[in-house]
Amino acid sequence: MSVGEDLREFIFSVPVVDTHAHIRTRDSLPRPMTALALFNASGNMRQLWVSSGALSRSDYRQLREFRDWDELATALESVKAAAFYRVFLSGLRELYGLDFRELNSEAFDLLSEKVCKAYDDPTWYRTVIRERSLVSVTCQDSRGDIDRSLLTPVARLDGYVWFGRPEWRARVVEQHGAEQTSTLAGLIGCLEKDFQAAVEFGAAAIKNNSTWCRRIDFADPSQHEAACALKECLESEQPNERAVKVLGDFVVNRICELCARFGIPLQLHTGPAGGVDHVVDWGNPLYLNELMIRHPRTKFVLFHAGGPFADECRDLAVQIPNCYLDLCGVMAVRSLRAILDDWIERVPHTKLMWGTDANLVEDVFALVSSFRRLLAELLTERVEQGYFSIETAHEVAEAILFRNACRVLRIPEARSES
Ligand SMILES: [Zn+2]
Repeated sequence: MSVGEDLREFIFSVPVVDTHAHIRTRDSLPRPMTALALFNASGNMRQLWVSSGALSRSDYRQLREFRDWDELATALESVKAAAFYRVFLSGLRELYGLDFRELNSEAFDLLSEKVCKAYDDPTWYRTVIRERSLVSVTCQDSRGDIDRSLLTPVARLDGYVWFGRPEWRARVVEQHGAEQTSTLAGLIGCLEKDFQAAVEFGAAAIKNNSTWCRRIDFADPSQHEAACALKECLESEQPNERAVKVLGDFVVNRICELCARFGIPLQLHTGPAGGVDHVVDWGNPLYLNELMIRHPRTKFVLFHAGGPFADECRDLAVQIPNCYLDLCGVMAVRSLRAILDDWIERVPHTKLMWGTDANLVEDVFALVSSFRRLLAELLTERVEQGYFSIETAHEVAEAILFRNACRVLRIPEARSES
């Protein structure tokens, strides 16, 4: 067996721990399910549509849906060469056993028939995730209820980070009462309670998504400064952005302490956020440098390879022992490969993880297959060049695909092999 065949066989038989996904529940998808509904429901396609201008920029979350194949086909014109679409399409072809190079109305109808039938089967999600994709654990980042038999929860504490803003505050106040949350000590007490509840619920990590609304430059305000900021936020009609930031910074530092106390990692979105007109620099991981040094016992996992800041992520992980890197959500195949190729040389491979960032089980299948293929090709090249042995290549593959995630996210390995 050649090196390439060996590695391909090995990598396609190793289980994957998917560190990051937002899988839509089956109930939230239409019945009968169609190929059109798949495209409308895919968050990754949605980002492509909106960036191409095919859909309105007015409100990313309320974008209208395509009504038929003709509308979809027009929108596909500008994104048909983009990596996510290619990976998604190739996944759909393989998963549903279809044979077409590009989508046309005929292929689309055929796909729809297959999709409809698949979604009638209540075990379809499990079949695709566990059997077809060989994903043994999926860390689900969502605010709603999740199917615990299939997904592992990741907790969000956004309501506390954004407590300065009335729309975010409402959820926390509703849960804990206005009086409890009107003082800093009371608010932090509620945060601790929710954190503990998340731990008891089995959360694998805490997720921070601040990049979507602010620069991730978390300073270290004093208790007094934070108490004044809370007072200002509660008293002013209009959110005072300075006070919102001070309070958010204080909360994020407390979350880091709680993560250290409970041994739970903090997953941070870095790089550009989805949607339109986002300030890309807000997600520059270099802003996290001091936060990670300030909390040496907290495990920080930087997501999405930092977007355009992959080199910055790498150098942070090289400098800071408690900084880990996750390649989730990097959809462009060649740049993903180039980043990984560089990181393997520079970052201890025990710090690298990968996840799908999928919305649909079809995404899971497509992205897992694409990543396994890329990893096999990359490691084959390294072994053939004499860079390391095939045994080391196996170790590196296992580490990235599941061992590091099991260790950092404290997922029992027994479960990952079931
Ligand atoms: Zn995500």
